[in-house]
Amino acid sequence: MKIYTLMLGPMSNCTYIVENEGQAILIDPSWDMAAIYKLLENKSLKPVAVFFTHAHQDHMTNADQLLKKYGLKGYLEEKDETFCELPNNLIETYKAPKEFKFAGLNIEVLLTPGHTRGSVCIKIDNVLFTGDTLFVNSVGRTDLPGANPDNLIQSLTMLAGLPQDTVIYSGHSYGINDGFKSTIKQELATNPYLKMAKENPKILEDML
Ligand SMILES: [Zn+2]
Repeated sequence: MKIYTLMLGPMSNCTYIVENEGQAILIDPSWDMAAIYKLLENKSLKPVAVFFTHAHQDHMTNADQLLKKYGLKGYLEEKDETFCELPNNLIETYKAPKEFKFAGLNIEVLLTPGHTRGSVCIKIDNVLFTGDTLFVNSVGRTDLPGANPDNLIQSLTMLAGLPQDTVIYSGHSYGINDGFKSTIKQELATNPYLKMAKENPKILEDML
């Protein structure tokens, strides 16, 4: 398994391409489809599945073009369908938690509501794509419609309990030095939100 990261659009959205056996799983393809096509073509990868971590528009801008080009549907957790701006016929909804198998990989989708009701984290081996639930040194906003701070605390507490060597790839590059990649161990040490989720969720209520 190999992971390619493309930082695209005005909000440093991360599109992830997970390669295995010549096939590719795409996570949050957005903004610059030409850049995504170019990488897929350069590496001779066939896209076999597209997942969205949640339905905020910045995570799926222009993704309709990619889905049509490759004849795919984008997997979206059903609770985010109500505000999804992609055409219905390009979306496949499901109820998380759920497991999928694509490109010879087991894909475990964890329901991690808080930033949105249908936010998910996508786990492949020891890698976790966290969308806007967990960032390097920070967490997703809870002041937007559909967000819920209490739910985010529960989700963060769950993530804080994952094996510490779990590698995280977040939905935006908001960290120090353009950071989008970290580990649960590192975030427990330096991310005040994840640290408090583990040690004292009550205090976290005042931080969000
Ligand atoms: Zn978002």
